[in-house]
Amino acid sequence: MGETRLVYMDHAATTFTKPEVVETMLPFLKEHFGNPSSLYSIGREGREAVETTRKKLAKALGARPEEIYFTSGGTESDNWAIKGTAFARQKKGKHIITTPIEHHAVLYPCEYLETQGFDVTYLPVDRYGLVDPAEVEAAIRKDTVLISVMYANNEIGTIEPVLEIGKVARKHEIPFHTDAVQVIGKVPLDLQREHKDVDMLSLSSHKFYGPKGVGALYIREGTEIDSYMHGGAQEWGKRAGTENVAGIAGMGKAIELATANIEGHNEKLRKMRSRLMAGILEIPYCRLNGHPEKRLPGNLNFSFEYIEGESLLLMLDQMGICCSTGSACSSGSSDPSHVLRAIGVPPKTAQGSLRLTLGDANSEEDIDYVLEVLPEVVGKLRAISPFYKPANEFEK
Ligand SMILES: *Cc1c(COP(=O)(O)O)cnc(C)c1O
Repeated sequence: MGETRLVYMDHAATTFTKPEVVETMLPFLKEHFGNPSSLYSIGREGREAVETTRKKLAKALGARPEEIYFTSGGTESDNWAIKGTAFARQKKGKHIITTPIEHHAVLYPCEYLETQGFDVTYLPVDRYGLVDPAEVEAAIRKDTVLISVMYANNEIGTIEPVLEIGKVARKHEIPFHTDAVQVIGKVPLDLQREHKDVDMLSLSSHKFYGPKGVGALYIREGTEIDSYMHGGAQEWGKRAGTENVAGIAGMGKAIELATANIEGHNEKLRKMRSRLMAGILEIPYCRLNGHPEKRLPGNLNFSFEYIEGESLLLMLDQMGICCSTGSACSSGSSDPSHVLRAIGVPPKTAQGSLRLTLGDANSEEDIDYVLEVLPEVVGKLRAISPFYKPANEFEK
């Protein structure tokens, strides 16, 4: 084997932290260590950084700074939106509408609420993972208190019709939450205009080249929601706890960079992706999961028949290629992905799935390398598979 390359194609799991972001964070880990709630100057620097990021996030989302609440990431934002709204509105009813393809950070809070007397409707999705806004409307009941549908799916990349779903929710005066963790820097957001029917939106810094462990929940003014953490007066008393100042400062830089040139960035990703996709689809017995067009620009998800996803992953890792089977969060368990199951991929086929997500770590040379290595690895694994027979035998 020649020189070892490292090809990172798992940007949906996390992204590297951009050097400019790290530079922005450092002063808050070093000299500006003061508590942002303190009045002396080393605390004031921290306070300013927190409020500057709030303004930057608001600008990037077309929101108002007072509607941005810092959290520890996407998981907390989703938990807060769902449990916070459900409990605040439970006197009005205990019915929630969501989808079976949500991230576990939405699904598990919903399952928890089911143990607390709530009733959850999991909407049907089509074979691409698309939700039909008419199905959302049909699922609404008198006691529906929340609708939560993700903006784009982290496994198969399908982008949901959130504008239409938002309209339905608004018409029936039901709060609408969307997990937008995967779309920051990929879809322009404007919560005062185009996205005016979204009431809550989750985001996570480490999915757009910021640090891990920090995120935000957008909460439209007037939305009924309980406080999440009880303690100090931070975040208007709604989310207590000393702010992650360095992380928040880094997220501010990251959102600025991520939203500076969305179209140019997407174009670059789409170009690399279509070449990668065309090359991979030449491998026999391989199908693309997710919608062919309505999908995130860097996302590819394939199922290979007669292959075990975990083995594929390990062999690719040996060749320096980092990608994932379904979602990073479910690795360790070999259950087929709940998303692939929901779109009707047979369990056996789902086991042989591979997600490649492109981003700023990638170049055209990475595509060449994967197209050289992947068909070979798939061939090797099939050669030792007891279920695989050469193509002509299938025809008989
Ligand atoms: C990564 C991810 C999350 C979880 O975000 P964390 O910041 O890692 O907690 C939630 N939803 C989606 C769609 C994600 O991709």
